[in-house]
Amino acid sequence: MKILPNRLDRGFLAYQKEFEEKALEVLRSGWYVLGHEVKSFEEEFAQYTGGDYCVGLANGLDALWIAFRVLNIGKGDEVIVQGNTYIASVMGITINGATPIFVEPDLYNNIDASKIEEKINSKTKAILVVHLYGQASNMDKIMGIAKKHNLRVVEDCAQSHGAYFNQKMTGTFGDIGCFSFYPSKNLGAFGDGGAIVTNNNKIAEDFRTFRNYGSEKRYFNKVVGTNSRLDEIQAGLLRVRLSHIQELNDERKKICERYLNEINVPNIELPRIRNNATTVWHQFAIRVKCRAELIEYLEKNGIGTIIHYPIPPHLSEAYNYLNVKRGDLPITEQYANEILSLPLFNGMTNEEQSYIINIINKYRECI
Ligand SMILES: *Cc1c(COP(=O)(O)O)cnc(C)c1O
Repeated sequence: MKILPNRLDRGFLAYQKEFEEKALEVLRSGWYVLGHEVKSFEEEFAQYTGGDYCVGLANGLDALWIAFRVLNIGKGDEVIVQGNTYIASVMGITINGATPIFVEPDLYNNIDASKIEEKINSKTKAILVVHLYGQASNMDKIMGIAKKHNLRVVEDCAQSHGAYFNQKMTGTFGDIGCFSFYPSKNLGAFGDGGAIVTNNNKIAEDFRTFRNYGSEKRYFNKVVGTNSRLDEIQAGLLRVRLSHIQELNDERKKICERYLNEINVPNIELPRIRNNATTVWHQFAIRVKCRAELIEYLEKNGIGTIIHYPIPPHLSEAYNYLNVKRGDLPITEQYANEILSLPLFNGMTNEEQSYIINIINKYRECI
């Protein structure tokens, strides 16, 4: 059997008719940017998350960097972020000239909240929380620290659409929740897309202005903004997907519960779930000491895997200038060396899953 790490085609086929009808509807409407579909999606997504306002954007990175821009965080300011994240989280900070201060992850691959306070000084302006792999971070503790030190909180929810901490959805705790709708995300478009969620009307208005060249009223430009608009066609397709998000996330949960219950290899560490938190299983990320051997073994048996992410941001060439050295973040670096994502996608068959589990459970090297 041949199993790819992801199959976006299956996600399309599951609701093919609805997607095709919506695409045609938008094509025939004659209105392609910032119209009815975007407005409706913004209302529906705000309601889904429990936030007051949603603003559609071109992608998740824009959501992040515009967030720090509207919060007026830039040169000379520091933003606390976990070391083990996708590099876009960090770019959201550095595009504005601010400095990322890395904190090690906890056992759940999220920021270790007990290590945040030691990094706070007079330059610290914000905490960027990344709900990595779909699991909500320890928001009680993080919001307490932010309040105590008067810090802004931005949430990177690119992987956590629909994940809760204490029954409150990720993206609604801090000042701004940043979402990506890149095709492989839990709520995926058919191209690029992004959005922010906020309870602050002024922040929402600033985003609306900023995404459209800094103009609220056409040709009257208040600030030097950017072009970061969500297309009508993507917004329309996202509305279709959003109407099925519960069943999509439930399906991923079912797959991952099988992995959790049935994979049993002594040297493979399975993901854990935090008390009071839920995960929407963006990835099923195991940790294994002899990762290269396992990848090769799975590959030989037709099973593809992906490493999220092999090089942590502080060791990327792009961030040489930060002067964070190898060894400075030992846990982050260990995770980068051991983490491995198993195949996981909507539309995975029972047979495919049984095959994967069976092959993994026969793995007996490196014990
Ligand atoms: C995908 C992702 C982003 C970036 O989103 P894009 O839409 O690709 O720009 C940011 N942060 C995290 C954690 C992501 O997974």
